[in-house]
Amino acid sequence: MNEITNLPAIFGIDVFNEAAMKQRLSPEIYCAWKNCVETGSPLQLPVANCIAEAMKDWATEKGATHYTHWFQPMTGITAEKHDSFIAPIGDGKVIMEFSGKELVRGEPDASSFPSGGLRATFEARGYTAWDPTSFAFVKDGSLYIPTCFFSYTGEALDKKTPLLRSIDEVSREALRILRLFGDTQTKRVCASVGSEQEYFLLPKSLYAQREDLRITGRTLFGAPAPKGQELEDHYFGTIRTRVSRYMKDLDEQLWRLGILSKTKHNEVAPCQHEMAPIYTDANSACDDNQLVMEIMKKCAAKHDLVCLLHEKPFAGVNGSGKHNNWSLGTDSGKNLFSPGKTPRQNAQFLVFLAAFVQGVDEYQDFLRCTVASAGNDHRLGANEAPPAILSVFLGDELNAVVESIINGTNYTDPEKSLLRIGVDVLPSIPKDTTDRNRTSPLAFTGNKFEFRMLGSSQSISGPNVALNTIMAEELGKFADELEKADDFDKALQKLVSKAFRDHQRIIFNGNGYSSDWEAEAQRRGLHNLRSTAEAMPAYVSSKNVELVTKHGIFTEAEFRARYEIHLEAYSKIINIEARTCVDIIRKQILPAVLSYCADLCENVTRKTALNITCKAEQALLAELSATTDSLYEKCEKLAADLNAVPAGSEAAANYYHDVILAEMAAARMDADHLEAITAKTYWPYPTYSDLLFY
Ligand code: ADP
Ligand code: MG
Repeated sequence: MNEITNLPAIFGIDVFNEAAMKQRLSPEIYCAWKNCVETGSPLQLPVANCIAEAMKDWATEKGATHYTHWFQPMTGITAEKHDSFIAPIGDGKVIMEFSGKELVRGEPDASSFPSGGLRATFEARGYTAWDPTSFAFVKDGSLYIPTCFFSYTGEALDKKTPLLRSIDEVSREALRILRLFGDTQTKRVCASVGSEQEYFLLPKSLYAQREDLRITGRTLFGAPAPKGQELEDHYFGTIRTRVSRYMKDLDEQLWRLGILSKTKHNEVAPCQHEMAPIYTDANSACDDNQLVMEIMKKCAAKHDLVCLLHEKPFAGVNGSGKHNNWSLGTDSGKNLFSPGKTPRQNAQFLVFLAAFVQGVDEYQDFLRCTVASAGNDHRLGANEAPPAILSVFLGDELNAVVESIINGTNYTDPEKSLLRIGVDVLPSIPKDTTDRNRTSPLAFTGNKFEFRMLGSSQSISGPNVALNTIMAEELGKFADELEKADDFDKALQKLVSKAFRDHQRIIFNGNGYSSDWEAEAQRRGLHNLRSTAEAMPAYVSSKNVELVTKHGIFTEAEFRARYEIHLEAYSKIINIEARTCVDIIRKQILPAVLSYCADLCENVTRKTALNITCKAEQALLAELSATTDSLYEKCEKLAADLNAVPAGSEAAANYYHDVILAEMAAARMDADHLEAITAKTYWPYPTYSDLLFY
């Protein structure tokens, strides 16, 4: 592999970014684009034509022959349809052509993407529209144009559109607060996101031998390996050469695409790794994370590896999540969740903090639903990831501040340098509050919140839409209150202390993995929505519908469509898993065990004829046969119950959770026991120790 000699020179080299635009566009066209991005005004066709021409020239110089409108349908992954640039000019000759119209608008056949009932089948058309706020790039010989995807009647069919709407909305409401604090300069407030991505890498040859991994992305069977992760020798350990070569290749590909891949290390579980980027604006972070997931998979194939993004590929071994670091900042780069240097800035910080705490408490169920999936159900609450209960961790110091605000007492810490606050009833903020409590689902980490409930394979759009919208809602309510106040300081103090007092129950600084917390959370009246089936009805509660429609993030129809799609996806995934489970039992496990039994019987017959004892064979046969009978029965029951799924998406989801998953787990117990007592030569697929300690 080529050594990367000059990283700054390759960084962003395949992106049509600001630098490329400045270089390639005339100053008027560049300014027109910039203006459209800053004000959200539509791009005029002549401008689009010039940009398209420049983009095409740039892309073809990089070897691109095609262009594609790249979009993020509600499947959670990305979609693309490639058209070549060629246009015939007679005499069998072609030129490379790309117009402004082709840049800004596309019309993919949308009938195969989930629409949750938004698009009637007679109107299968969907449209894509360029998002000029995220940059086009060249990858695998195509020019990729990031786009929004919507229906003929204008409903959003994707994950980008609502995210863009929520980004605007939180900016609008946050600006109202900033104005109240005398900030007249800031034009935009930007939601920033850095998402840490966990993943597993396995040798392709072993993966290929496991039908469950190939079809469902996780192992449906597998007795525990003699060694698991108990020695904790993998976390931050030396990286295998093969993996290290992969990571280097991955980094280079990401850097070329302008993705700020920063940190890489081994994770807790064997074969598990993590990549963390430097944060960027929420929209780019979401695009980038989609690319990261895709390139992680493609790059693995080049190295004879397979990248698993499933939330729980192996039972009994830590699963994979995604830490979504989220914050708000001004267009001049000031972080709004940083305690400030002056009393005024501290008061402002407390307003943002109070809005956040209030929002998470009021919309716990909404946030919970944005991370609900069949895969993530295996993680949340399983003592390796946060519980399914939302809570906010502030750390001891900030918590002491909040408590003193609630109690109206003065907070003083003789050890810390205290920042006096002008509003003298509001206490000072300790300068440094960082969190090392890894068990919290949503932790304040100095100047940002780390949302740790996300599944590794999911799009980060949904959780960030929720965070932005909730924040917009609470900041808006605060602004309503403060704008009409006669005495600003007094109103401010009242508002902040009321918010903390009313919503203190969501603040939890203890061990989120402990069972005491579950009981405590229940006493506090917090939601504990354990599974997707249990959680999803809360998604479309009238409170949540009101939130998203009020802020124009979703229409009610768009919102309900997402609910339908999530529930349907949940049921479909479990259905596929269950059918794979039956298939593997019938075609692989039972035949393997039966042939082992046949050979044992043969032994018994022969040994008995010679008058040799065969107690071991007989005992083993008895156990194998009893377990085989039991497994057979469970498998047949599972197969039959798969034909009895009730109608209605909620009823079906509940059935898959309560009946099918439970039956799969029961069958697995038998299968894994058989694996443990069957001779290795008979076993049809690689075991956990083969897979994890290759
Ligand atoms: P650690 O959690 O190990 O202390 P950092 O605090 O530096 O590491 O960052 C963890 C992640 O949070 C990184 O992906 C980083 O880019 C991201 N991050 C840092 N600051 C912000 C911010 N203001 N907004 C969003 N993400 C941020
Ligand atoms: Mg983290």
